[in-house]
Amino acid sequence: MVATGKGASQGVLIKGGNALENAHKMQVQTVMFDKTGTLTIGKPIVVNTMLFSNVSIQEFCDVAAAAEVNSEHPIAKAVVEYAKKLRQKYGSAMEHVTEPKDFEVHPGAGVSGNVGGKLVLVGNKRLMQACNVPLSPDVEDYMSETEQKARTCVLVAIDGRIAGAFAITDPVKPEAERVVSYLRSMRISSIMVTGDNWATATAIAKELGISKVFAETDPLGKADKIKELQMKGVTVAMVGDGINDSPALVAADVGMAIGAGTDVAIEAADIVLIKSNLEDIITAIDLSRKTLSRIR
Ligand code: ADP
Ligand code: MG
Repeated sequence: MVATGKGASQGVLIKGGNALENAHKMQVQTVMFDKTGTLTIGKPIVVNTMLFSNVSIQEFCDVAAAAEVNSEHPIAKAVVEYAKKLRQKYGSAMEHVTEPKDFEVHPGAGVSGNVGGKLVLVGNKRLMQACNVPLSPDVEDYMSETEQKARTCVLVAIDGRIAGAFAITDPVKPEAERVVSYLRSMRISSIMVTGDNWATATAIAKELGISKVFAETDPLGKADKIKELQMKGVTVAMVGDGINDSPALVAADVGMAIGAGTDVAIEAADIVLIKSNLEDIITAIDLSRKTLSRIR
């Protein structure tokens, strides 16, 4: 258990089990990274809004925020925060963000809830399609325009119609590019896996020097991508922060959770990056390589 103690002082917590027994699993060939909250800071902000119906901007934001208020997702926090700011600036019919009824989380897609008797959906294209909400050419245009700028387009439907959309930006972590290139020098390849759309994901991956991307992947799909690689004999580490990453964290040879991530992810992982710094992925891999060479 040397590695466990050593790691902890270096910002890497190796959980339970026998670190030595698992050391061979750490001869990682590929690191699969979740995007939101893992490669990106995870504190997205709303940078643009677009209305596609006759609601006022304040009503639109209030209704979206009400649907999102109970969600833990960073995108939800961005929407709630933005609505709050607008309210402070311009005042609003609603004093507080109201709580939705029948609130439901659709992992990797969005949320739904009943706000003041109206069915509100906030999420991506997949959520809208699953709920039979039609997307007009205007909406499609705004989406692709937004996504080409490496922004995430979040759609809001009220009673089955798109009412408007948010463009959301989440900057990449300062160390992310460095870690990807360092891994490459160790002959370890990096892959991005995300529930976000292809255009946004590809734009961000390019920025970081990641050439392989799996986008529009739901939580079980993330785990499937890992299993496919494992079937080809590749040893895979998964790094993630969200509830939506937990099946993948379990499926991977080594699951690494971001310390600041959700409890569910930390529970599912073998290793916790306590400082939430991606550079500690390298610390963990180094540590296990040293452990392994000591056994040999
Ligand atoms: P990632 O895999 O990058 O961490 P998620 O799987 O959590 O992302 O989410 C994938 C996509 O689903 C998001 O980019 C967003 O479009 C949509 N989404 C998920 N949760 C929400 C939410 N609470 N509100 C709005 N959109 C959401
Ligand atoms: Mg995430």
